[in-house]
Amino acid sequence: MMISLSGKIRDRIPASASAAPKPCSPPPTTRGSKRGRKPAAALPDRTGSTPAIPEAARPALEAAALRIFRNLEHVLESAYSLGSPDVIVHLLDDVIPKWAHASGRSIMEALLLHERGFMGSTLACPGCEQGALRFEGDRPRGVRTMCGQIKVRRSYYVCDSCGHSVAPLDLELGLEGDPDATGELGFLPSVQEIVGLAGSRMSFPDATSFIKKILPDPPSLRTVERITRSLGQSAQRERNRERLQAYQDPAKSTFPTCEAEATPEVAVVAVDGGMCRMRTASEPYREFKMAVAGRISPAPRLKKEEQPPNVLDKTYTATFEGPDALFELCGLEYARLGLDRAPVVQFLGDGAPWIWKRVRDLVQPGQRLVETLDFYHACDHIREAAHAYFGPDSKPGRDWQKARQSQLLAGKVDAFLRSLGNLARKAGKAGRVPEAESIGSRHAYFRERRHQLNYKQCLAEGLLIGSGMIEGGIRSVGKDRLHRTGMRWSEAGAEAVLTLRCLASSGRWDRFCHSRAEARATRYQAFRQAASRAA
Ligand SMILES: [Zn+2]
Repeated sequence: MMISLSGKIRDRIPASASAAPKPCSPPPTTRGSKRGRKPAAALPDRTGSTPAIPEAARPALEAAALRIFRNLEHVLESAYSLGSPDVIVHLLDDVIPKWAHASGRSIMEALLLHERGFMGSTLACPGCEQGALRFEGDRPRGVRTMCGQIKVRRSYYVCDSCGHSVAPLDLELGLEGDPDATGELGFLPSVQEIVGLAGSRMSFPDATSFIKKILPDPPSLRTVERITRSLGQSAQRERNRERLQAYQDPAKSTFPTCEAEATPEVAVVAVDGGMCRMRTASEPYREFKMAVAGRISPAPRLKKEEQPPNVLDKTYTATFEGPDALFELCGLEYARLGLDRAPVVQFLGDGAPWIWKRVRDLVQPGQRLVETLDFYHACDHIREAAHAYFGPDSKPGRDWQKARQSQLLAGKVDAFLRSLGNLARKAGKAGRVPEAESIGSRHAYFRERRHQLNYKQCLAEGLLIGSGMIEGGIRSVGKDRLHRTGMRWSEAGAEAVLTLRCLASSGRWDRFCHSRAEARATRYQAFRQAASRAA
C-alpha cells in the first residue's frame, strides 16, 4: 500500500527505516549525527513574520518528525494488514489517537532536548543572600503531559550555602510537586487542571476511571485526590489574596474589577447553608455556607404561578469558614459582576439571623435594598403551624394553610399575622399547651420578619419571591459532591473541592486556569531576575 506522504518527506526516509519501524522511541541525545548527511529542513524555515525555530533545536525536531511519519506508515500498514472489515473504525477510534499521543511525546522530548533550563554555571541563590547556586549537571525527570509521560533531562542547581536546589525548567513548566519528596512524576498544569476538574465534579474513584479513558498515562486514585486538593488550595489562595486586598485595610481597599458590560437592573443575592459529613468523630457534621449572586431583568407578574425572571450571570461562593468569610467572599463576586452599580438589590434567604444581620454589608450607598424571606421557607412554617393544630395532612389543615399563603401573596400581612395569633390562642384555650407554644413561636417568627413578607410587592415589581437559586446551588454545587453516601471529609479537602466546584459552576474555570498560568510566568520571571543578579 502507498501512503500519500509528501514526496519531500518520503524521499528523506532512510530505506532501512520502513523495514523495522518502531514505535516512537526517544530521540538520539547527540545533536546532528555524524553519520550521513544532515537532512534538508523538514520544518518550515524562518520567515519574516513567524518566529524562527531555534537552529539548535532543529536536528532533534527533524529526526522526531521523520520518525513520526515512518511510524504512521507502520501503524497504517499493520491495521490494514489485519484485513478486518471495520478497519476504518479501528483506525479512527484507536490506532490514530494512540499514534497522535506517541507523536506528541516524541516532539515534546525533542523540544526539551534543546531546552533544559540551563542558565549558566553559577546563579545567585534566591533562597539566601550570600550563597550561589552551582550547576550540578543535568538530571532526569518524568513529566506527565496530555500525551502521556515523557522523559526529560533538566539542568539542576544546588546552593553551596543553604542547600536550596532548583531546576529552572521545572519552574518554567509549572511541574506539580517535588518528584523526590512524593515519589510522583511531575504533572504539567494542563494535566493538573483536567484532573482537578474531574476530581471536583465526581467522586475520586469515578474521576480516576474517567481520566483513565481520556489520558494515555492516568494518575492513581491517591494522586487524583492530591492534585484536586492542591488545585483547590491554589484557588483558595487566589481568593484569599483578593479578600485581603478588599477588606484588610479599608483605606487602601481594592475590589476586583467589574467584568459586566451593562449596569444590572436588579442585583439578587441568596444565602443558605448545607451539611457535610466530616471524618472527625468529635464533629461528625459541619455546615458550609453558600451565596449565589446574579442579576435579573424584572418582569412583573400577577400570580406566583407565572414564570419568575431568570437569574443571569449566576456565581456561587461557598466556604466552611463561617458567615463573615462568606459575606466578604461574596462581596468580591458582587463587585466583579457590577452588582454594586444596580439601583435595586434583592436579598433572599431563610430566617437564619446570621444571614440578615450581614446583608447591609453588601449594599452600597444609593442602592435600594429589598429583603425577602424565601416564600417556600415561609410555607414550611405555615404548614408546621397547621400540623400542630389540625394534625398532619388533614383537609381543614390544608385549607387553613392555603388561605394563609394566599393572604401573604395578596399582601394582607396584618390579617395573616392575626390568623396565626388566633390559632395559637384557640389552641391555648383548648388546653393544648405544646401546640399553642409551637404555633405561637411561628407567629413570633413571622412578626419579627414582617418587612420581609413583601411577596405582593415583589410580584408586582417583577422580583423573586423564592430562593430556588440557592436551594439549587446548595444541592447541585455542594451536596451532590460533598454529601453523598459513605463520604467523609477533612475540612481542608471539602473546602478545596467546594472552591473548585464554585469556580466551575460560575463559569470561571478557564479564567482560573489562565490566571494560574500568568502567576506561574511571573514567578518564573522573578526567579530568573533574582538568580541572574550575580551571574
Ligand atoms: Zn542559598
